[in-house]
Amino acid sequence: MAAEVESLDRSGGAATTNPLRAGMDSSRIANPCNVIFFGASGDLTKRMLMPAMYNLRLGDILPTNFGIVGFSRSEKSHYDFRDEMKEAIDQFSRSGEARDPLWSDFAQRLHYIAGSFDDVDSFHELRRQLEENDEKLGTEGNRLYYLSTPPSVFGKIVQQLAAAGLGPRDQQRGWSRIIVEKPFGTDLVSARNLQAEISKVFEEKQIYRIDHYLGKEPVQDIMALRFANVMFEPIWNRRYVDNVQITAAETVGVEGRGGYYDNAGALKDMIQNHVMNLLALVAMEPPISPNADHIRDEKFKVLSAMRPIPEDIVSKVTARGQYGPGLVEGKPVAGYREEPSVDPNSATETYACVKFYIDNWRWADVPFYLRSGKRLARKHSEIAVTFRGIPHRIFGETGDQIESNTLVMKIQPEEGVSIRFNAKIPGPKMHIRGVTMDFNYGTGFGVVSAPAYERLIGDAMRGDATLFTRWDAVEQAWQAVMPILNRWSETRIVDFPNYLAGSQGPQNADALLVADGREWRRI
Ligand code: NDP
Repeated sequence: MAAEVESLDRSGGAATTNPLRAGMDSSRIANPCNVIFFGASGDLTKRMLMPAMYNLRLGDILPTNFGIVGFSRSEKSHYDFRDEMKEAIDQFSRSGEARDPLWSDFAQRLHYIAGSFDDVDSFHELRRQLEENDEKLGTEGNRLYYLSTPPSVFGKIVQQLAAAGLGPRDQQRGWSRIIVEKPFGTDLVSARNLQAEISKVFEEKQIYRIDHYLGKEPVQDIMALRFANVMFEPIWNRRYVDNVQITAAETVGVEGRGGYYDNAGALKDMIQNHVMNLLALVAMEPPISPNADHIRDEKFKVLSAMRPIPEDIVSKVTARGQYGPGLVEGKPVAGYREEPSVDPNSATETYACVKFYIDNWRWADVPFYLRSGKRLARKHSEIAVTFRGIPHRIFGETGDQIESNTLVMKIQPEEGVSIRFNAKIPGPKMHIRGVTMDFNYGTGFGVVSAPAYERLIGDAMRGDATLFTRWDAVEQAWQAVMPILNRWSETRIVDFPNYLAGSQGPQNADALLVADGREWRRI
């Protein structure tokens, strides 16, 4: 049915013969399947998921035979749903407005079921729709469920799938997989409970816990940089590395999600998942192959080597903050406590930083400083590996500063790698100054990276779990942050708000590094 639709390249532009792009593939997914979005009337489906599906189709990545079913409470017909999704794509897709003939073909494959997750009849209705798709669209019984709902109903949906005979064990043919949105639990106990619920119905290899950070090209490039080059690995250890700083800084506030955020905070929302995943990639041992489990085994080992933080030293190795009003990118913005749906006396942190150690031979005593915050000076995510100083100084006139070498993996919005090293300033004297060598993905390969959701949904359809988080890693990451959460929940906050919107963050975060004789890189 969809064979003669226009086919553009992954960047959304017309196919080119750009030599920088040699070796880049855009291969179509072989297996037909249905993708079922629970929470289809929600914000994430509109802004990210449906535009991602459309762009996968535009890039000729989706299988020839596919169907999409949206499921949520709001009453609407298939036609209303198609209209809404067109509007969403027009507004949010990186490739601009949905166009015919591609859109008409795509729209015919979109169906909608209105129902509550408490009502098993709507799941029977879903089953009927999926069986019809198998027959009419040739989807062969393959199903990718996507939980894009409030996390409180994840367990319920899985139970209802089983009750309606939609679980993998009931299938006569094809496969079932399930993508679970973040957060996976709100603490260690709730994460374990959720895992217990889901694993009653799905096996671990069928569960895809999404962390959209892992779908970003520069995050995947951390492994390429480390394991497809010979020159970094010999110095990637305690002998040469002084410290590692991982930063995930945002300029945005809570963006209409105040109700959710006020119950989460920066430690749960960012550090426990995205930032810890970055830490695992930068610190893990070389995997023996690119196989998903070989990579995930190594990530798990690093997370299990993280030194537990005793509760009584939490205040010495962490800092937290909450923004007050200020100026972000030249515009005045409200403080966190004035944001919609946020408690005016909220003690939720919008900034968190933690110092961790990894107790293994490679990293013993090297501090890993992790930080994340909202309403900071700049949107900026990076991993900076700072090397030790030179052992003996022979160059540089008195007063010249010999900087430590730093390798920075830039995650967003810039995407690339930069290396800071010292060079001689031209002239008769041996003056030394730090200089930067930069690699940028956009100019290096002549493409704009595809949004993470496109990559990740495509991978789940292919059955490639490499970029999804395995349960053991989720559990380990919760274990690492639990003492902090416990201590913070017991300690009364008196100084919130303690940083200005648009600033570098709270002073107590600076003090944490000053106490170690170091300083944060500038955001
Ligand atoms: P929304 O609140 O916008 O949407 C929730 C969806 O779930 C709606 O479609 C709603 O249906 C449906 N729903 C809720 N309860 C029920 C129920 N009992 N029965 C049937 N349907 C129900 O959430 P988001 O789209 O923002 O987020 C979805 C998930 O994605 C969450 O887990 C969130 O943490 C995660 N996420 C979201 C991000 C974002 O930017 N939005 C970013 C990263 C993760 P209806 O409206 O019809 O009642």
